[in-house]
Amino acid sequence: MKDFIEAGYLASGKVYVFLHSWELALAVLILSIIFKSPGLFILFLGISSHLVIDNVQKDNPLVYFIIYRMMMNFDRSILLPELDR
Ligand SMILES: [Zn+2]
Repeated sequence: MKDFIEAGYLASGKVYVFLHSWELALAVLILSIIFKSPGLFILFLGISSHLVIDNVQKDNPLVYFIIYRMMMNFDRSILLPELDR
């Protein structure tokens, strides 16, 4: 699966990683507080712990901020420079 996704990066030069954003994690956290929802808080813990693990493996520490990815026009060479080595 990882090879398939990375092949997708290479083919298009763009990076679209769905459900991988700190903004989403923050939104889920806020919703869990607003609705006092343990389920949403557990979802937040799952998303954020997954993102931490993914994030420490990437050279660009901002890669999992969707706003940053949009500002960089989802350019693979900026977001995932490690794939060019
Ligand atoms: Zn991931």
